[in-house]
This record gives sequence, structure tokens and C-alpha cells, in this order.
Amino acid sequence: MARWASEGGELTEPIRAPDSERAFGCPKRMVFGPCGGVRADGACEMAPRPCVFDDVVRWPGATTPGEPVDVPLVLTDFSAPPFDPDALSDVTRILASSCDAVLVGEHQDRPDFPPPVLARLLLAAGITPWPTLACRDRNRIVLEQELHGLRHVGVRTVLCVTGDGRAYDVRPEVTQVFDLDGTRLASLAASLRLIAAVVETPTAPPHAVRPLRLVEKQRAGAGVAILNHVGAATELRRFMSAARAAGLAMPVIASVPVYTDPASAAALQGLPGLDLPASSVARVLAADDPVSAGVDAAVEEARAVLAVGGIAGVNISGSASSRGHIFAAEVKAEIGRRIRLEAER
Ligand code: SF4
Repeated sequence: MARWASEGGELTEPIRAPDSERAFGCPKRMVFGPCGGVRADGACEMAPRPCVFDDVVRWPGATTPGEPVDVPLVLTDFSAPPFDPDALSDVTRILASSCDAVLVGEHQDRPDFPPPVLARLLLAAGITPWPTLACRDRNRIVLEQELHGLRHVGVRTVLCVTGDGRAYDVRPEVTQVFDLDGTRLASLAASLRLIAAVVETPTAPPHAVRPLRLVEKQRAGAGVAILNHVGAATELRRFMSAARAAGLAMPVIASVPVYTDPASAAALQGLPGLDLPASSVARVLAADDPVSAGVDAAVEEARAVLAVGGIAGVNISGSASSRGHIFAAEVKAEIGRRIRLEAER
């Protein structure tokens, strides 16, 4: 253990790799791997070789109790053109009455305002932001600065992720930092009395230990989890029952992918660790009205995942449409409204 001086207190956080040999072999320098980007055949997301993690690394520190969390029934992905406060306000106006909070992404190919700036804009516009903080583009000190900044502007929940690797053709001159991984960032966030949200990818190898990995993130201080899309509710049920048997107690939100045209479906299919059944995509895209079919498919999926024990909410995820951010927000708002209406019945 090493001591880490911090404004307003002193944080303790394990920085020594339980297995540093393994961390050296991971292009993301992860200690608490494996990441969600492990390919179906066990290959690394970032290098032409197998992933170095074949099991779960246990959290070695004391368990940090997570802060109590108001779990959103509907958490909607926020999509607006970057560096555009007017577009942000327009999208917020459309989404505000259809969801409990918005998940603000951090994309490897689309920089935007820093998370505290985005969060302040969203709060001022009248919506609760769950900003994402990724370890890819910031060193450890800047991550800590961002966490303090988020807390200062009034954010309660921050999604702590390692981050997917930057594609080889996206700003190849820019370094990728990965001083921390998502688990250690969650611990740091919890120590600052933020609610640390974390992600797990049930469909990524090694499948059998993914539920345990989520439990280790809970032990590190995570207070709420978001699961990447699982192709079928039976798979989700299997994952949840294994995780709960292993000690998972924090609330879990399941992702519901939204697509209404080939471009929005392709964007989701290109994401590592997201299992989107080809038959479902084909059914939506072949419909006479793919927008209605996409909305219906998302509402149906939300109904199915909310029936799984331990799932407390849904994350309406994806770009939804290639017809611009206003149209896409209207699609997501319609889905959110219908999910809320069903829940009230
Ligand atoms: S798949 Fe992820 S965790 Fe595994 S070695 Fe590659 S970057 Fe590291």
C-alpha cells in the first residue's frame, strides 16, 4: 500500500500490482483486469495476442462502503455534438421528462468539454448527469482533479471506466495513459464520497468469472453497476444469479440498445463487448417503419431485463439514429416515457 496525499485528506489506495508481471503484458496497464474488450476468442482488444488475464484479480484493500444511491429506472445515453452548449440544452429539453438521469460518455474518437464543465451545463439545464471518467486520456493526478471538480459542481455519481483503447487510426500521435484502471478509479471516487458506478461485460471472456469481477469492484467501493448488453434475458438471469450468490449487493442497471437505422445499429455492433443479436437487428431494419420497430424493440427489451431479479433500471444506450441529435433524442425520449408508463401501471 502507498499513501496518496490529497487535498482535504489523505487517501490510501493500493498501487502495487497484485501480479505486476501480468500488468506489464496488458496494453492498458491494468492491474484489476480483464477489461470488457476481450475478444470472443480470448484475444486482446489492443494487441495481436491473447489477453493476459484468465481469471479475476481480487481487490486486496479493505472494502470501501459505497455511498447510498438513488437508482434511476431510466438512465439515458446523452448524445449531442461536442463543444456545443446550445445543442446540449436542446437535447436536455427533449430528454428531461423521460429519464431520471443521463449517462455522459467519453469517446476515444470524439473529445468534448471536460466532465465537470459538461456536468455543470447539464445541471444548469435541469437534468442529472452521470459523467463517465476514463483512464485512457488522463494521468492519475488529472483523474483526481476531475473527481474533485465533479464533486464541486454537484455531481453525485460518476461512471469509472478504464476506457476502450483508441483505434489505431484515431490521433495516432496521442499517448494513451492508463495510470489507473476502472476498479482503482472507482476506489478513488468512493474515497472522495462520490458514488462510483462501474461497468461489467457479461458476454466477454472469461465468462465464468465476470460475475466475480463485478463483486470485486463492489469490494473496491463501487456503489452501482451498469451491465453491457447481454443478447438474451436468460443469459442476464444467469449472470445476475451467479453475481448475487458471490455477494453482489449493489444495484444493477442493464443496458438496452437502441437503433433505428443501419448506421446506429452498426455503431453498436462495432463496440467491444456488446452482444447485439443479428436476428433482432435484421427484424428492426427490415420493418416498414424501422423507427417504430426500433422503439418497440427497445421497450420490449427493457420489459424483459427489468423482470430479471436484481435489475433495478435500464440504460437506454446507443446513438439511436443517424438523423441528427434532435431526432435521436426524441427516439430515446419516447422509449423512456413508455418504460416509465409501464412501470407506473
Ligand atoms: S484484453 Fe484488455 S485486459 Fe486483456 S490484455 Fe488486452 S487490454 Fe489488457
